[in-house]
Amino acid sequence: MTLNIDLHSHSSQSDGVLAPAAVAARAHANGVDWWALSDHDETSGLAEAAQAAGSLGLGFIPGVEISVTFCDKTVHVLGLNIDPVNPLLCEGLAGIRRSRFDRARQLADLLAGCGIDGAFDGAMRHAENPGLIGRVHFARFLLEQGHCKSLQQAFDRYLGEGKRAFVPIRWASLEQAVAWILAAGGKPVIAHPGRYRYTPQQQDALFGAFKDLGGCGIEVVTGSHTHSQCERYAQVAISHGFEASRGSDFHAPGVGRADLGGMQQLSDRLVPVWRDWI
Ligand code: AMP
Ligand code: MN
Ligand code: MN
Ligand code: MN
Repeated sequence: MTLNIDLHSHSSQSDGVLAPAAVAARAHANGVDWWALSDHDETSGLAEAAQAAGSLGLGFIPGVEISVTFCDKTVHVLGLNIDPVNPLLCEGLAGIRRSRFDRARQLADLLAGCGIDGAFDGAMRHAENPGLIGRVHFARFLLEQGHCKSLQQAFDRYLGEGKRAFVPIRWASLEQAVAWILAAGGKPVIAHPGRYRYTPQQQDALFGAFKDLGGCGIEVVTGSHTHSQCERYAQVAISHGFEASRGSDFHAPGVGRADLGGMQQLSDRLVPVWRDWI
């Protein structure tokens, strides 16, 4: 029997809407056998997630999704099976969260320049965890105030790269993120590789640098990949010698292409990242 393994999801400790225990319950109800919570730049939900998973008999892998800047663009690196209290990892993530807070102030100023006042406090009201403020919280505020008709439109009009309220941010370097994950005993995995707008040369540079630094895998099957992207990144995993991961990138019920556990299976040709854990 093929296990249902979902190693990428978010709770209200970052930009998801459900509390960690509620994400665990939903994963279990959806038939997931092994689950990872991987909040953006934050590990504060992992204790609640582990406890909830334990009481449901759901396998649990502690994770995190680290924001990285590579070739002037944002890349997300998953750290899977990490020690959530590792000091190097925790200090690194705390630094990213401080940058997020500073960005939120600047973002609110840009929105004020567009005639939208009160955005900082308004976004904070949508953030369960004020230490992890992100663009999705601003998108929820803009939607609530009628400045857009959907979260997608909030990004298209204001928050997306190059839009009116976009604030460029220098995240961790690839080198730092991989080092923190390795220090915490985890596996570094490039999340949703199909989402990055790199040239083929830049993408090769990313995979090459990641591998040289000790990166282990790429997310072949993920909620934002089409079927053909899953095929393409299965080939990339094989040709570059990467292990393969599978994760929904679940944020909220009814949002995004895949719910928890609701993606295609990994091809048998691939070496799964969980091979030594499950
Ligand atoms: P941040 O890390 O705060 O810059 O926000 C990035 C997050 O915003 C991603 O993890 C997604 O959850 C969400 N996101 C990014 N682009 C879009 C988009 N075009 N539409 C809706 N959500 C998006
Ligand atoms: Mn997100
Ligand atoms: Mn991501
Ligand atoms: Mn994610």
